[in-house]
Amino acid sequence: MIEIKDVHKRFDQIEVLNGVNFSVAEGEVVCLIGPSGSGKSTILRCINGLETYEGGEINVLGQRVNSKDKSINDLRRQVGMVFQRFNLFPHRRVLENVMEGAVHVNGESPDTARKRAIELLGLVGLADKLSAWPAQLSGGQQQRVAIARTLALNPKAILFDEPTSALDPELVGDVLQVMRTLADEGMTMIVVTHEMQFAREVADRVCFLYGGRIIEQGPSGEVLGNPQEPRTQEFLKRVL
Ligand code: ATP
Ligand code: MG
Repeated sequence: MIEIKDVHKRFDQIEVLNGVNFSVAEGEVVCLIGPSGSGKSTILRCINGLETYEGGEINVLGQRVNSKDKSINDLRRQVGMVFQRFNLFPHRRVLENVMEGAVHVNGESPDTARKRAIELLGLVGLADKLSAWPAQLSGGQQQRVAIARTLALNPKAILFDEPTSALDPELVGDVLQVMRTLADEGMTMIVVTHEMQFAREVADRVCFLYGGRIIEQGPSGEVLGNPQEPRTQEFLKRVL
C-alpha cells in the first residue's frame, strides 16, 4: 500500500534522508524508531506530501507521491496524519472539531458527519465530551479527539508522529489503547514512537532509522528482542 524506494532528501546542503527503503502492506502496523534527527518526521512528511524529496520514489495506493501534483490533496485525504501537538480548533467544541473536515474537506452532509463524529468519539472513549471545548480536556483527551478527527476523513492509512510524547505519563496509556484498537481493526499505520512496549506488542514490523537510512528492519520481536546492528543495540539500550 505504501512503498518507499531509495528516497533522498536534502535540507540546504545536508542530506537528511539517505536512501530510505521500506514498504507497508494493507492492514500492517509499522513502527519507525531511531534517534533524534535521524529523519523520522521527515519521511512521514514526504509520504503524505507535506515535504518534497529529490531522489527515489514514494508510492501510496499505487500512486506516485509528488507534492507539486494537483492530486496531492486527494492523497492527503487518504493518508491521515496525527502529530505530537494536536492543534484542535480552540473555538470549536469537540464534536465540531471532529465533524469539520468531513463536512468541509470530504463534502459530507452535516447530519452524516455528526452521526459519524459521535460514533468516533465513542470509539476513542469521549462520548461524554461532545460539547466540551478543547481547553477543558486533558492532553490525552485532546489527542484522542485529534485521532477521531483524522478517522472522520475515512483515511486508508494513518501516520502517527510521536503521538504520545507531549503527554504526561499517566495520559499515554489511553491514547495507545485507542491506537491498539485501530490496529486490531485492520488500519494501516506507520507509527513513530519511543513507546517500545507498544512497538513490541502492536507493530508487525519495526524499522530502525539512523542517519537518514533504515539500517535494520524486521518483525518487531526480532528487531527489539534480538537486534543485529550495533547501532540498533546501542539505541535500544538507551530507550528500553
Ligand atoms: P526527532 O526524534 O527529534 O523528532 P526526527 O528523527 O523526526 O527527530 P527530523 O525532524 O526528520 O528528525 O529531522 C531530520 C534532520 O533534518 C534533522 O537534522 C533536522 O535538523 C533537519 N530538518 C528537519 N526539518 C528541517 C527544515 N525544515 N529545514 C532544515 N532542516 C530540517
Ligand atoms: Mg520528529
